[in-house]
Amino acid sequence: MFAINKDLFKQIYKLIKSYNNIVIARHIGPDPDAIGSQIALRDSIKLTFPNKNVYAIGAGVSRFKYLGSLDKIDVTTLEDSLLIVLDVPNFIRVDGIEDLKYSKIIKIDHHPKEDIVGDVDFTSNNYSSTAEMIAELILNSKLMMDTNVAESLFMGIVSDSERFLFRNTTVHTFEIVIRLLKDYQIDFLSLYDKLYEKGFNECKFEAYITDNMTITENGLGYLIIDNNEIEKLGLDSSAASVAINKFNFIRELYCWCFVTYDERNEIYKVNIRSRGPVVNEVAANYHGGGHAYASGARISKKDDIDKLINDLDKLCSDYLGKENE
Ligand code: AMP
Repeated sequence: MFAINKDLFKQIYKLIKSYNNIVIARHIGPDPDAIGSQIALRDSIKLTFPNKNVYAIGAGVSRFKYLGSLDKIDVTTLEDSLLIVLDVPNFIRVDGIEDLKYSKIIKIDHHPKEDIVGDVDFTSNNYSSTAEMIAELILNSKLMMDTNVAESLFMGIVSDSERFLFRNTTVHTFEIVIRLLKDYQIDFLSLYDKLYEKGFNECKFEAYITDNMTITENGLGYLIIDNNEIEKLGLDSSAASVAINKFNFIRELYCWCFVTYDERNEIYKVNIRSRGPVVNEVAANYHGGGHAYASGARISKKDDIDKLINDLDKLCSDYLGKENE
């Protein structure tokens, strides 16, 4: 069990209480943890302080509409706001705050620390998800929770831990989830339909990846995904990010990565996952980062793709060497 930092939670509550305009932001290319955390915290603050203006900002993603709606506001009209940054460690990846005037930051994030430092800062790698951190905050402060808030947090936790399969899952994760389930009567089976229902085209995409992935003798799987394949199946640019989590627990793979070309931004986007080697330090050398076992990178020169693949293969080889010692 973690030591609960009640003093930190008091400081977060106090700062939220002192502002009338509150903007909650998160990373670009959001996942259910980022959006679920934003919506849960916004709705909890509104439940607690009905007269405050609280906005969850950033581009919406149609496939995650079931999590609730974000706020479309012109942030330039807001004076003296409190910025709450969730699930992202670096300013460059925060969505939608370029024109926002804010005087203080609260940061809540489970990624390794980078350049964002909150005036009140709740950053820790020990949580499965940002949603787990927000659940802990709400359950241990005067912020209020209801079934909707609990459901958004549950979906964030379940999604970022890949249904408690990822190595970021702890006993604490289960303790928090039990409280959400017990105290707020979440109908979790019906939420799984929203989280896991998929089209047959997504199954076909996974089959394309399975058929075409190269696997090295060190246990690295990699694939440079053909954009035509994504288009042909009627999928969008998030297809690789969704599919990457489906390749866990394959005996022949210790680490796997997909490369997709983002034509609009003229950059290669890389999704990296691992069930052994720590990959975020390699990702950091290629304009990336993330968690020990789930990272991403951005590559502008095609040659660097080969370099990254070689680095990851070397990582697998070193890992295997240590395992066999
Ligand atoms: P993804 O494969 O896009 O789901 O990303 C996996 C993890 O890596 C997430 O926690 C992201 O926040 C992080 N991540 C992805 N791309 C980058 C990047 N270019 N820089 C830093 N972190 C990243």
